[in-house]
Amino acid sequence: MPTPPRVYGPGHPFADLPDDVLLISPSRMVHVPGGCDHYPRTAEQATLWGWISDPEPGLWNRIGPSHPVRANGGNTDLTSERRCATCVSAT
Ligand SMILES: [Zn+2]
Repeated sequence: MPTPPRVYGPGHPFADLPDDVLLISPSRMVHVPGGCDHYPRTAEQATLWGWISDPEPGLWNRIGPSHPVRANGGNTDLTSERRCATCVSAT
């Protein structure tokens, strides 16, 4: 999976996350870093997001109603079975 360019500046709460992390938005949509313009602009917004560190290989392509995922970092209450269409196009 090609890695889109990172969009987070120095000091952004997500700037130190590994490049292969998957992000789960508060609306329960999964994103890849830099794949679209859906990302928190402030630290306060970022606390609402979760992420999946060390995703198993190919996980991004399997996410769906039959393969829901749960955040293992950040807001770990978040689960998702939907990928962001813009991020799908970017990967
Ligand atoms: Zn996205």
